[in-house]
Amino acid sequence: MEKRELLYEGKAKKVYATEDPELLIVSYKDDATAFNGLKKGTIPGKGVINNQMSNLLMSRLEERGVPTHLVRELSDRETLVKRVSIIPLEVIVRNIAAGSFSKRYGVEEGAAFDAPVLELSYKNDELGDPLLNDDHALALGLASREELALIRRYAFAINGLLRDIWASGGVILVDFKIEFGRLKDGTVVLADEISPDTCRLWDAGTGEKLDKDRFRRDLGGVEEAYVQAMKRLTGGL
Ligand code: UDP
Repeated sequence: MEKRELLYEGKAKKVYATEDPELLIVSYKDDATAFNGLKKGTIPGKGVINNQMSNLLMSRLEERGVPTHLVRELSDRETLVKRVSIIPLEVIVRNIAAGSFSKRYGVEEGAAFDAPVLELSYKNDELGDPLLNDDHALALGLASREELALIRRYAFAINGLLRDIWASGGVILVDFKIEFGRLKDGTVVLADEISPDTCRLWDAGTGEKLDKDRFRRDLGGVEEAYVQAMKRLTGGL
């Protein structure tokens, strides 16, 4: 499968057309941004890790009944995926308080929830990805009631599966963000990526952060954290 024209360039990925109108090639970059693009940088090797990690995790999810956009890995940084139209929702699942949840609700980072928390944001950079609920999403025409119910069901199922996978590698899945898309026939599938850019991953023994918070918060050892996360994943699988 050959790359044709560049369709889209985002913060961390480029998307190319292919000869098949229903298939695209995603190419992962080493560029990193945080705080809605305010902080910019490069994390050498990140693109390779995110590509491989996302594909590993998505193929595990597929095996367990979660439909995804994944077709096949083409190279270190490139993957063939099904074309979707992205549902403009950032779907966040939280097991432990951190980040914006801690800030917004005044809860100490690290407080575990009795049950996972599902959160939706409107994927809109100009508006700063505002938090919304199902009624807001319906009013804005972002998704149907049926799609919202399905997304909720998938999100909790994905959380359970990912938690187990990471636990096998001695890593706690604190929270993560996923995105869904619609195939041509309307089928809702998991799209985008699952990586240390989009998950909070804490070492179960030491609590050390193995994710993008090292970049966001200038904690140092960013590249090493991504490498370590990948090692834990492949060791745990
Ligand atoms: N997240 C993401 N993209 C975003 C916002 C959040 O991938 O634009 C991920 C983030 O890495 C974390 C989870 O979603 O794993 C929850 O993030 P939070 O809402 O706490 O926001 P943050 O503190 O990262 O701004």
